[in-house]
Amino acid sequence: MNFQSFFPIVKEFIRALGNRRTYSIRNNCYFIFGVLWGIPVPIVTSGMSLYHRNLSFSLSNIAGEFLAYPIQFFFLLHPLLFGIVFGAMGTVRDEKEKQRLDFQNSLVILNKELKEKNKSLQELDKLKDNFLTMVSHELWSPLTTVKGYVSLLKEKKLGELTQKQKDILAITEEQIEHLDRLIADLIDISEIEAGKLKIVPEYLDVNKMVEKTIASLSQRALEKNITLENRLSPQLPFIWADSRRITQVFTNILGNAIKFTPDNGKVSIDARVMADSIEFFIEDTGIGIFEAQLANIFEKFYQVDSAAKRRYGGCGLGLGIAKSIIELHQGRIWVESKVNAGSKFFFEIRKCPKTKMESKQDCLLSSLVSG
Ligand code: ADP
Repeated sequence: MNFQSFFPIVKEFIRALGNRRTYSIRNNCYFIFGVLWGIPVPIVTSGMSLYHRNLSFSLSNIAGEFLAYPIQFFFLLHPLLFGIVFGAMGTVRDEKEKQRLDFQNSLVILNKELKEKNKSLQELDKLKDNFLTMVSHELWSPLTTVKGYVSLLKEKKLGELTQKQKDILAITEEQIEHLDRLIADLIDISEIEAGKLKIVPEYLDVNKMVEKTIASLSQRALEKNITLENRLSPQLPFIWADSRRITQVFTNILGNAIKFTPDNGKVSIDARVMADSIEFFIEDTGIGIFEAQLANIFEKFYQVDSAAKRRYGGCGLGLGIAKSIIELHQGRIWVESKVNAGSKFFFEIRKCPKTKMESKQDCLLSSLVSG
């Protein structure tokens, strides 16, 4: 016991002395227990005194003892004193027990409320997911129509265009592409949430795929004078993966690297071949991410700060989708970053071992086994 807890106990004890319940024979069995505990005290003390003086244990000798030694009255009071002390301790104990029970009951009530809140949150989440799916599909159809009209205009099927009209059409196309990506991301995330996103693995040549991805992003890099460096060894082993989805992972991470790197910076892509997998890393010399936020950036709709949305665009879905895709391939994804120095995103995917033919058979077999 330490003194910090001693003084509050003394305070409670003194408070209990002023409580009627302490002295109640009916409500506080500790009081009776104390009295019983104290009864032997006057008997033993007076008995010892009589024994010491060689006197017999008779009523007259005891009365004489009390008159000769008034301290014996103090011992006579002991059953009452013990009753009071034990009674007060009983009151403190009962109060503590009552507090504990009250606390336990409030916990039970809180727990029930939490469960109900959780249930309604889950229902809301489901509603939101359904809404997301519905909205993204609803947006898809008019966008397809708009896209159709834009290509009609571009192909001059509705007549010649002036330079100004061509410029406006180019901006419109850019905006359509942006909206297109956003809707595709929304559909992906709602499929991931519903556990419906499926991967269709095939024997995949990563080198070719990365070249294509880099080519598709080179314009964006060029606009910011960013060097896009492909350091992948041309002899990288093939992987057993969904081509469209892994391209999406590369596009999202490379796209972010370009987006969050200031003009004249550098973005590079490299890989390390491990025993059973290939570890890819995409490094940039961009703005970096604070350590406290690193754990959150793979969450859906997460953006490092609200101002980022206005400065850089996007809706915080790219990395969440990338993570789900990599996990569907039984791989893992992580990041290392330093503010104002740059970020390095890593992800690992199982490789196909041996030669092309053997690998094809192995991969087919392992996919059959893993279902
Ligand atoms: P979006 O890019 O659409 O905002 P993402 O899910 O792709 O969404 O990324 C989430 C957040 O992670 C981004 O908003 C940004 O704050 C941070 N982030 C991602 N990649 C980088 C990077 N290469 N450098 C700095 N911050 C990044």
